[in-house]
Amino acid sequence: MTDLTDRLAAGEELFDDEWRFLIEGYYDKQLLFYRADEVRRRYYETDVYIRGLIEISNYCRNDCLYCGIRRSNADVSRYRLAEEEIFACCKQGYELGFRTFVLQGGEDAYHTTERVAELVSAIKEKYPDCAVTLSLGERPRRDYEIWYQAGADRYLLRHETASRSHYEKLHPPEQSHQRRMECLRDLKQIGYQTGAGFMVGSPFQKTEELITDMRFLQEVQPHMVGIGPFIPHHDTPFAGEPAGSLERTLTMVALTRLTLPKALIPATTALGTIHPQGRELGLKAGANVVMPNLSPMAVRGQYSLYDNKACTGQEAAEGLAALKESVALAGYRVVESRGDAV
Ligand code: SAH
Repeated sequence: MTDLTDRLAAGEELFDDEWRFLIEGYYDKQLLFYRADEVRRRYYETDVYIRGLIEISNYCRNDCLYCGIRRSNADVSRYRLAEEEIFACCKQGYELGFRTFVLQGGEDAYHTTERVAELVSAIKEKYPDCAVTLSLGERPRRDYEIWYQAGADRYLLRHETASRSHYEKLHPPEQSHQRRMECLRDLKQIGYQTGAGFMVGSPFQKTEELITDMRFLQEVQPHMVGIGPFIPHHDTPFAGEPAGSLERTLTMVALTRLTLPKALIPATTALGTIHPQGRELGLKAGANVVMPNLSPMAVRGQYSLYDNKACTGQEAAEGLAALKESVALAGYRVVESRGDAV
């Protein structure tokens, strides 16, 4: 019988029992990570791409049950960055060597179609050698088109969970799974390098849901996949739920690398938050991107998606030198380029 990891990397579909075996950790972990790393080196060698993450607003009209900046959390102090502040972040980032800026935020009505389009074209004009990634949630297709025409290169919109019944347990009734899927399809059709992704260990998630996530990735073939452990936030309905585990998250990163050999997969901040070596372990399990925080110091604590979210040290843009060192110690190399999908 051919090895399961070979069959995955060859694009084969697996039976439920085979997925279960892999996801639940019966396949040797070290071998799984080794195979994932082998596949990542095939296309990306030891390159690790860096993205400067600018959290432009924590106002949000949505009410995701897991998220600390959900609209019903009255205890967050809300902020939004002025255009000049965003440009200052880009300038600092550019000098540090970042060639991708990720503008992420809650779904904030202030960010009209025009405002975002102007912001994107101003950044692209100042830094024509940089990629701009947007992560501003669900919008009408028209907005995505206009922003793409303004120069946006990539869009991150995690699907959160591919199972509709599970999605409905994590979101209020007005947020629809179908709508999120439509957005992802629109983004891909428009031409964005498109990022999906999911949380590991979110409440009510069983192996079955993770199998659905993996099959969803096989079908949709996103360019980027963000995978992080769920981490509780004290002011949400899921405050008392346990966080997702390091092991399970690393396993899902490795399986995603095998399933999508060319994908851009970040070793996420959430992974770095649950374990001091989380980021390096993520890289060794198949991740090839890191996204240090470039937001102004004063607001970093306010973009509180979950408790104890790391935003200092190597998770911060200023910690880039230290980050480069630990990436090198893990056997990889931070490169100064846009880092597009191959
Ligand atoms: N409004 C944007 C950005 C959301 S924040 C959007 O809808 O895409 C970015 C990601 O943080 C989310 O997609 C979610 O997967 C993750 N996140 C939110 N709350 C979290 C939590 N409690 N634990 C772990 N990850 C969380």
